[in-house]
Amino acid sequence: MPRRTSRPQAERTLELATDTPACPACGRALWAANKPHRTVVTLEGLLRLRLQVRSCRNPDCPRYKVCLRPEREGRFALPQHEFGLDVIALVGRLRHAEHRSVPEIHAELARRGVPICPRSVANLLDRYDELLALSCSDPARLRAITAKAGRVILAIDGLQPDVGHEVLWVIREVLCGEVLLARSLLSSCRDDLAKLLTEAKAAIGVPIAGVISDGQHSIRDAVAATLPGVPHQICQSHYLREAARPVYEADRHAKVALKKAVRGIRPIERQLRGRDDAEATATRGYCAAVRSALTDDGRPPLQASGLKLHDRLAKVARSLDRVAGKRGPRRS
Ligand SMILES: [Zn+2]
Repeated sequence: MPRRTSRPQAERTLELATDTPACPACGRALWAANKPHRTVVTLEGLLRLRLQVRSCRNPDCPRYKVCLRPEREGRFALPQHEFGLDVIALVGRLRHAEHRSVPEIHAELARRGVPICPRSVANLLDRYDELLALSCSDPARLRAITAKAGRVILAIDGLQPDVGHEVLWVIREVLCGEVLLARSLLSSCRDDLAKLLTEAKAAIGVPIAGVISDGQHSIRDAVAATLPGVPHQICQSHYLREAARPVYEADRHAKVALKKAVRGIRPIERQLRGRDDAEATATRGYCAAVRSALTDDGRPPLQASGLKLHDRLAKVARSLDRVAGKRGPRRS
C-alpha cells in the first residue's frame, strides 16, 4: 500500500563525501559528478544523507565516468532502501533470537517511533534473511563482483541495535557498493571478526587493497591479524567527528558569548521608526547585517558557527570604524 501521509522532515542531515580524493584505478583526481540525497529511516529517527558522488574524467581509465559513491553510505542502508540497516538488524534479531511474530515486531518498532507498516516489516525480514544467506558458499557471486576491478576495498561495519545483543556484521565492497558477507554474531571480539575476515578473504579471490571501518579496537586487531600489511582507513567522518568534538563545544560557548555582546538591535530599530534619512537607512542596514549574522549557522565541524559569526560581526565592526574614521573624531 502506498504511503497515504507525507513523511515528516528528517531530523538529522549528514553530508557524506568519498573518502578517497583519487581515482581507485588511475590515481588521478576524482571530479564531483552529482549530489543526490536520500532519506533513511533509522532507529534514531529520519536521517537525510547528502551525498557527494565523484567520478573519474580520464578517458583512458577503466573507471572513466564510473560513479563512486561515498564509502560510508552503505553503513546506513542498503542501496535503494528506505529503512536503515540498523532497523533490519533489529527486525532480524527480534524474529530469530526472540522468536517474535511480524505483528509483535511491528508493535515494537512503533513503540520505538519507527514509522513502518506491517507489510514493510515482513519485507525487512526477507532482506535480513537474504543478507545472512550471502555466505561465502557462493564464491561465483563474489568473484563476479570482484573480478572486474581486480582488487577490492572492504568496509566492515557492526550494527548493534541494542547493547548486549547480537551484532549484525556487514562486509561491503566500496567500489561497487555490494554487500559481500553479513553475519549475525553474539560477540564482537577480535577472534570472531578475524574468522569472518578470513572467510571473506578466501572467497574473494583478488587482492584486498584496503579496509575501511569506524576503527573499533576489535576490528583494528582483527584486520591487523588477518590482513597484515593491508592499509586500514578509519572512517574520516568518525575521525573528524571525534576530533572536532572539543572544538565544537568551545565554538558553541564562544557563539553564546558573542550573541550576548550584540543584544539590543530591536531598541535601535524602534528609535529609527518613522525616519527615512540617510543616517537612519544606513543604521537600519547595519541592524539587518547583525541580525542576519546571528541567524546564519555554520556547518560544523568544518565551518564552525561561532567563528562564522565572529567573522561577520568583525566585518560589521570594521565597516562602522571606517564610517567613524570618515566622520573624524567622535562628537560626544
Ligand atoms: Zn581513473
